[in-house]
Amino acid sequence: MALIVQKYGGTSVADAERIMNVARRVAARREQGDALVVVVSAMGHTTDELIELARQITRQPEARELDVLLSTGETVSSTLMTMALHELGQPAISLSGAQAGIGTESRYGRARILSVDPQRILKELGEGKVVIVAGFQGISEEMDITTLGRGGSDTTAVALAVALKAERCEIYTDVDGVYTTDPRIEPKARKLREISYEEMLELASYGARVMHNRAVELGAVYNMPILVASSFRDVPGTLIHGGPEMVEQRNKVSGIAYDPDVAKVTIRGVPDRPGIAATLFEPLAEAGINVDTIVQNAGAEKIADLTFTVTRGDLEKAIELVRPIAQQVSAGELVSDSNLAKVSIVGAGMQSAPGFAARMFRALYEEGINIEMISTSEIRITCIINESQVADAVRALHKAFELEQAE
Ligand code: ADP
Ligand code: ASP
Ligand code: MG
Repeated sequence: MALIVQKYGGTSVADAERIMNVARRVAARREQGDALVVVVSAMGHTTDELIELARQITRQPEARELDVLLSTGETVSSTLMTMALHELGQPAISLSGAQAGIGTESRYGRARILSVDPQRILKELGEGKVVIVAGFQGISEEMDITTLGRGGSDTTAVALAVALKAERCEIYTDVDGVYTTDPRIEPKARKLREISYEEMLELASYGARVMHNRAVELGAVYNMPILVASSFRDVPGTLIHGGPEMVEQRNKVSGIAYDPDVAKVTIRGVPDRPGIAATLFEPLAEAGINVDTIVQNAGAEKIADLTFTVTRGDLEKAIELVRPIAQQVSAGELVSDSNLAKVSIVGAGMQSAPGFAARMFRALYEEGINIEMISTSEIRITCIINESQVADAVRALHKAFELEQAE
């Protein structure tokens, strides 16, 4: 008998019929003898709707209250899923994140999991029940409800799989697995049979929302195999793992990610002397603003232009924090642009073969796409471009790197 943690995403539990459908799959799996912990997301677009509802009351909802509100989405689906299993004659119990032992920091809206105490889950499993856990939520040391960031139910699932020493974590979603790029943008995208943690982490961190990046990170640290598969169709999915090097990906790009949520801030005429960058970026870090790409072009006369990117939601705050410092250090004007996007190619093969960047830039150039900024890791190249061209860029790159071709 194996212990398996499964997770079903929002589309998979969007209405009563789909919840019954998932419950039937869970019950059938249970009958094969596996012990199951099932993490569920909120139904359909519930999380978006709850955020919108809060916005109708106040422009800036207090973070603590917003987290309590958002956590209710997953509470609803966990109880309905449990009732569906009861209806099928399957013993089951729902647990909140807190009851499931998910301890987090108190950073509302994007709390990281600090500890998992699986005692209660183990007790219920010991009584033969399927345990249904509300995803995306945890509890802080101050006993306040927190949420893990959008898409965070994946992270709940992997964290539980690790704590319970499960055989594997299975992420069931509305696509058949991880594709070479988002199949909604490029219908010729190809499903990958397997992908390494490192590559999946880069794809997820740079926009491929099929997996939450922190879930992949946890999987990598604890070597927990993660299967991404369809909750609707019985077809093989994609295994994310850290096994031996995968032949399929040698010398190739594995996938293309895009993220249409990019804004940039440029500070012109920044004095080129030690300490200035630290002075500018420290307040952003303290405010929890994630600065992504940073480019400094050294100009003449010991002054430089400094450009950095943030998410659109953080732009206003970033400008507010940086403007007074720019003035203090006698920098020039500050300009921003919020209509940008990131497109990234990812592949472990890049480390050993030259020419990936040149091919990427040529493909974008031939599509008439201007590159605003570039950033890289050992296995990724990212270009910041205009948002309106992001779909064209993804398709052009998918073609240029021959991703649609048969394995
Ligand atoms: P869930 O609600 O099940 O968590 P998400 O909407 O978070 O599902 O993630 C699944 C979606 O991720 C797919 O519908 C697809 O549009 C998108 N996606 C983006 N990049 C990829 C990719 N490389 N492979 C598969 N799906 C992707
Ligand atoms: N319901 C949450 C969200 O929409 C968490 C999740 O689905 O993983 O972001
Ligand atoms: Mg998701």
